[in-house]
Amino acid sequence: MKPFAYAAPDSVPAAIDALRDARPGTKILAGGTTLYDLMKLGVEAPPAVIDVHRLPELTGISVTDSELIFGAGVRMADVSDHPVVSARYPALAESIWRAASQQLRNMATLGGNLLQRTRCSYFRGTDFACNKRKPGSGCDATQGHDRHNALLGASSSCSATYAGDFAIALLAFDAVVDVLGPLGERSLALADLHVEPGENPSREHVLAHDELIVRIRVPLTAAGRGSTYLKIRDRESYAFALASAAVGLVLDDGVVTESRIALGGVATRPWRAVEAEQSLLGRALSEDVARQAGEIAFAAARPGHTNAFRVELGIRTVAEAVRIAGERAVR
Ligand code: SF4
Repeated sequence: MKPFAYAAPDSVPAAIDALRDARPGTKILAGGTTLYDLMKLGVEAPPAVIDVHRLPELTGISVTDSELIFGAGVRMADVSDHPVVSARYPALAESIWRAASQQLRNMATLGGNLLQRTRCSYFRGTDFACNKRKPGSGCDATQGHDRHNALLGASSSCSATYAGDFAIALLAFDAVVDVLGPLGERSLALADLHVEPGENPSREHVLAHDELIVRIRVPLTAAGRGSTYLKIRDRESYAFALASAAVGLVLDDGVVTESRIALGGVATRPWRAVEAEQSLLGRALSEDVARQAGEIAFAAARPGHTNAFRVELGIRTVAEAVRIAGERAVR
């Protein structure tokens, strides 16, 4: 690992000042579970890091009449163990405890988790061509091992999958991210935080280098109680998703009146399946209806040469998540 400067501001405003004045390439250090990993691999080599993981303003989980509010510095473990989150949003709690081991959950923060980087093996190996790591160098995944690469949202420059779980569940419930920078605070829909690779895969989100996520807000909805996060992976212990689905439903006399579906592990960013959601509205749940929603969710899938099996896997994942959410749904 290359030497780097380290600073630990004692407040959020001090952190923003430090980010504003930082050298190009300076990184925010939260839990460090992604950044230090990539620095050890030589993928990241920032000249400096600004450590925000002990800032008290970024901690805390609270509930108002209309929202569930998470500080960006809250540890993943605090979410998975939180009784209100588990009761009102099982999909959020499940997305956390299916994401990582207890050791990682104890370290990783929510803000850092949202901005974690891809697990594409060519991105993590510095001997390979990778447009995301080194713009313009090419993409060795195109003719290489693309088993885990994206089926949705890819470009000719990059098909790397967004690796997170929590963002998928947040997306299903229209979460909002509050961001602070030198010009003040702004809010943006989580749906607008991440971007598809297009011609510039090195750009993964819309935040400026001197902006810090300070909190995440989730509107309260009855669909939260009738929700699940189902994650399919190569092994039962912690691994990244081959396909995942966050589904939230409300039923009235057995008929779907509210429907939310987001996909993970299959797209270049957290992916909302709006047409699949709409296909459920006004219908009684059945195996066929759930399967149809899955087929609609993956209608635009464009597999590579070794990952086509994940289209069917994704369809089944959505169908099963719809079934589970239906059993939990408010009726
Ligand atoms: Fe790099 Fe994206 Fe290609 Fe992977 S898919 S090697 S991250 S450009």
